[in-house]
Amino acid sequence: MSDCLFCRIITKQIPAAIVYESPTLLAFDDIHPQATTHVLIIPKEHISTLNDAKAQHKELLGDLVLAAQEIAKKRGHGDDGYRVVMNCNRDGGQTVFHIHLHLLAGRHFSWPPG
Ligand code: AMP
Ligand code: ZN
Repeated sequence: MSDCLFCRIITKQIPAAIVYESPTLLAFDDIHPQATTHVLIIPKEHISTLNDAKAQHKELLGDLVLAAQEIAKKRGHGDDGYRVVMNCNRDGGQTVFHIHLHLLAGRHFSWPPG
């Protein structure tokens, strides 16, 4: 999708601080970090929102979560903990319509979220 910001990051038309890449996933630092570690993990396939995920995406969605785990552990956040979040549509606070998992770590996060 040429008009999608994250698709343009995948094709390297827009620069990003890439922290992980696999044939199906890309992870990069969030441009407005909300914690010491704030990484976005995205599928290379364009899926606009979680509503658009299908049964065929099960493995891809699992891979997103496992990539978050791997990055969190590599950065030493495994024991203290971390948060993974996927926002969907208006009430979820989604602003970029290419699904992404936020990995946040390095401070304590309150619950419930605002
Ligand atoms: P969401 O609100 O869940 O859709 O999250 C979108 C995230 O993308 C926000 O945390 C933004 O700070 C982040 N973001 C927007 N543009 C860029 C960019 N060019 N590079 C990295 N992160 C970005
Ligand atoms: Zn996209």
